[in-house]
Amino acid sequence: MMINNNLIIGCGISGSVIARLLADAGENVLIIDKKDHIAGNIYDYKDENGIYIHKYGSHIFHTNNEKVWNFVKNFTSLNTYMHKVIAVIDGIETTIPFNINTIYDVFPESLAQRLEVKLLKNFQYNTKVPILEFQKQDDEDLKFLANYVYEKVFLHYTTKQWGKNPQEIDSSVTARVPVYLSKDNRYFQDKYQGIPLNGYTKMVENILNHPNIHVQLNTPYNKTFRGYKRIFCTCSIDEFFDYKYGELPYRSVHFKFETHEREFYQSNAVVNYPCNYDFTRIHEYKYYLNDKSKKTVIAKEYSEPFVNSKNERYYPIVNDNTMAIYSKYKSEIPENIYFLGRLGDYKYYDMDKAIERAINLFDEEIKKQ
Ligand code: UDP
Repeated sequence: MMINNNLIIGCGISGSVIARLLADAGENVLIIDKKDHIAGNIYDYKDENGIYIHKYGSHIFHTNNEKVWNFVKNFTSLNTYMHKVIAVIDGIETTIPFNINTIYDVFPESLAQRLEVKLLKNFQYNTKVPILEFQKQDDEDLKFLANYVYEKVFLHYTTKQWGKNPQEIDSSVTARVPVYLSKDNRYFQDKYQGIPLNGYTKMVENILNHPNIHVQLNTPYNKTFRGYKRIFCTCSIDEFFDYKYGELPYRSVHFKFETHEREFYQSNAVVNYPCNYDFTRIHEYKYYLNDKSKKTVIAKEYSEPFVNSKNERYYPIVNDNTMAIYSKYKSEIPENIYFLGRLGDYKYYDMDKAIERAINLFDEEIKKQ
């Protein structure tokens, strides 16, 4: 009988990558997940219309990291999709992040020209400025612009998404979507971008497809899992420690799916509604892989607090209080237990950063053992 020296809790991207790296190094791995499917929150499936649905919201792979890109390419081919986000502002469809093209979309030409000239006098072209920085303006026109962007793009969206205004959340969160002094309409500027041609679930299946990896679904972790040389934990660190220092808070989201009897519902894969409605954005999935169907499937995204055993953890809520709780848990991590992933590290990782974290953990701490 094969002895599994390594237990991995969680079959999402972080757990799967570390499983594969261990397996390739000749180690045996048992990877468990409480869900009935692999791939965690990047899980997707092809529905009856032939459309790949991202069950837990849109996922767009993007990275500047060659190591990460080379790893991913071993397990899937990707298309050359480069994500753009449309936002409806004052009833006008325009581009997010707010950039020089956006100015021309939402303002009369003469005002837009004046703002562009002033912007390029005050900021270097092709730079990204977080909104909370951008608000520090002396010039009256630029002050007007900053207030407009704050109000129309960030204030209501962030309140819907986090239940707080932009000043009350960690500045790194709103900095993810800066004001962009550019005409580049893409959401990400990374060198490598794309969607796995056969979906994310297939990609994860390929990562896990190794004789040294044993996958067990519908299996929550409990203390009866003993005797492993190492445990890699991608579940929430507070849960692993039975919440002894209290719960780490998260935001959750839920999706209302709709099928429409027409080819397209909206003009883009993601349309944000920063000022209207109670959902934050609408996803239309067929855009990602150019799926051909006479019907289309959309999902309206609603944000809500995470409540244990009611919904899923999506976004760690990083602030001084929560980091103090996290640090207490971190200081108690035993030597042979490793935490990684959004929930294990309590960090707002994108997919590439989660993969990078798993690769670095393996290279820097495990390989030399
Ligand atoms: N954000 C916003 N308006 C937008 C888009 C984003 O205010 O139209 C803010 C909001 O606080 C959000 C954060 O920027 O939580 C990060 O957005 P991103 O699109 O990176 O979120 P994700 O796609 O990871 O959910």
